[in-house]
Amino acid sequence: MSKQEMREEAERLIREAMAKKTVSIKQGDTRIETKCGKCGAINKVSAAPGQTRVEYHCKECGHKQKAM
Ligand SMILES: [Zn+2]
Repeated sequence: MSKQEMREEAERLIREAMAKKTVSIKQGDTRIETKCGKCGAINKVSAAPGQTRVEYHCKECGHKQKAM
């Protein structure tokens, strides 16, 4: 392998790593901070990409509700 080829290979690996990182951020769940409608506690709920309404149980009182 020539120096030129090694340099191209290294650049390719960096590009691939960056592409994977970008994709993983896009595919990651969205963290929603929502206030419990019953006791007012702040709950952190994770939502799938594109999902706007997430059903969850309040961590403080266990009240079942939907976050938006
Ligand atoms: Zn609650």
